Amino acid sequence: MKKVAIFPGSFDPFTKGHEDIVLRGLALFDELIIAIGHNNQKNNRYFEVDKMVGYIEETFKSFDNIKVIVYNELTADLAKKYDAKFLLRGLRNTTDFEYENSISQVNRYLNESLESVFLITSPKFASISSTIIREVHKYKGDVNEFLPYKID
Ligand code: ADP
Repeated sequence: MKKVAIFPGSFDPFTKGHEDIVLRGLALFDELIIAIGHNNQKNNRYFEVDKMVGYIEETFKSFDNIKVIVYNELTADLAKKYDAKFLLRGLRNTTDFEYENSISQVNRYLNESLESVFLITSPKFASISSTIIREVHKYKGDVNEFLPYKID
C-alpha cells in the first residue's frame, strides 16, 4: 500500500526549513501532501494563501508525488479523507517539542490510525522561522535567502 503523509502547517511563509523536511520526508513516504491550514473567514495571514500555494507548487514542480492543498478542518479528519496514515512535522528545539508533543497526543486521540513522524531540523535551517521572516519582510528586508522560491 502507498505510504501517504500529510505535512500540515501555516506556511506563512513556506521556508527552506520546510523544504528540507519535505525532501527528507520523501525518503520515507511515497506521497506527500503539503496542507496549508487556513480559515477564509479569519483574514489572519501575512502572505496570501493562494500565492503561497503557487510558490510551493513552483518549488516542487518536478515532483509528481507532492500535492499542495489548503484546508480548514481537523488535521486528523483531513488525513482520513486522503487515506494518509502519517503526519509529518519538523522539530527545531524544545519549544517545538512541547507543542508537537501535545498536538500529537490530541491527534492520536482523534484518529488512532494516524502516526506522527518528526524529523529534526538540519542545523543550517534550525534558526529559520516563518515569524522572523514575516518581521524582516514587513520592514523591507530581503528574505529571499530563506525561501526556496523568489517572492515578488
Ligand atoms: P504551525 O503553525 O502548524 O506550527 P509552521 O508553518 O510554523 O506551522 O510549521 C510547520 C511545521 O514545520 C512544524 O512542525 C514546524 O515545527 C516545522 N518547521 C518550521 N520551521 C522549520 C525549520 N526551520 N526546520 C525544521 N522544521 C521546521
